[in-house]
Amino acid sequence: MIDEMTIKKIKDSASILDVMREFEGEALKKCGNLTWTMPCPLHGGRSLGHFKVNERDNYAHCFSCGETVDAVDYLKRVHGMKFTEAMQYLGAKYGIPVEGSEKYHPKPAKPYIAPPPLPIAYMQNSFIHESKANIGKDVLLTWLRSLNWNDEQRARLELMITLYAIGTYIDERWGTIYTMFWYINHLGKICTAKLMRYKPDGHRNKDKYSTDWLHSRLSIQRGGKFDEEKWAIDKVVYFGNHLTQAYPNATINIVESEKTALICSIYLGNISQWLWIACGGKSNLTREKMLPLIEQGRTIILYPDKDGVEEWKKMAKDIKYDKLHVNEKFMRDNWRPEDGPKADIADVLIRLMTPSKSDLDTISEIFPETIGMMIDKLNLEIEK
Ligand SMILES: [Zn+2]
Repeated sequence: MIDEMTIKKIKDSASILDVMREFEGEALKKCGNLTWTMPCPLHGGRSLGHFKVNERDNYAHCFSCGETVDAVDYLKRVHGMKFTEAMQYLGAKYGIPVEGSEKYHPKPAKPYIAPPPLPIAYMQNSFIHESKANIGKDVLLTWLRSLNWNDEQRARLELMITLYAIGTYIDERWGTIYTMFWYINHLGKICTAKLMRYKPDGHRNKDKYSTDWLHSRLSIQRGGKFDEEKWAIDKVVYFGNHLTQAYPNATINIVESEKTALICSIYLGNISQWLWIACGGKSNLTREKMLPLIEQGRTIILYPDKDGVEEWKKMAKDIKYDKLHVNEKFMRDNWRPEDGPKADIADVLIRLMTPSKSDLDTISEIFPETIGMMIDKLNLEIEK
């Protein structure tokens, strides 16, 4: 019997990365600042990228089989150790006295030598043209077109779909339809596309496999057309980055979701004044990914989701760029409980499509010109 105190001490000392590097050696590859990957040893996966070891939070998770393990689970699951054996092994590794640990002689892992970075591959322009072939079947765009836009916005809708390079991807195995958001960098090079499934009401489909990236599709389905062991994709890109050069004087408004950037552009127009781009996920709000914008000296305003204000304020502070601001006012003034606790600016704008006068007054402080035009229209309608 190993006492509780010792078990706790061992568990607190055990690093899954240390343990896995001892057993897996070179198979374990660094794939992020504090993340590592290898083919999943839990389900016997073959490709990289699904199984990730998180060094900071000390666990490993497989996005393919869904399993999560710590160092002890790993020894049990992959090396067939019993709990006591895992404790004995870890006791020997970390110099914590446990009866029976003499039989284990753990070796320190060799120091990690990062392989040279892979060359970056970009995609051909023709991929975007191909992605327009099925755009008539796109679920998100069908919903967008069904909204109660005014004439100006409706005219802008098709233009924005083109400018933002939206396409459609049909997975022929299952007949599932994905909206493709092309990620094109500030130099106009096509990095990849994010694939997302939507429901007819415009909300995200949250089923398994409802979000994916084109480069991983190409590597799995097309017989390795894109080999992730030979090529890397350029990850220093936000959705909409390619438009920054075309609108050099625009303030850059950053939102989390691609759909939201598209809706704000259609709704508010004035793209040469406010260019909406999407970072695609909270964790992408980093100085590294923002660098092309910072180097251009752009003014950047972040529009966090209702539930993400504090987090984005903190992240913005860490980025340390004096032209980076967070807009809290829009949500504070315009959010209503019916928008839901996780609403973003697009959810609020869509509710405001038939706005009251007081709603318009508050938005007009932030977007004077567009709303000015809307108010004119509204007044005209009232006069009739
Ligand atoms: Zn797995």
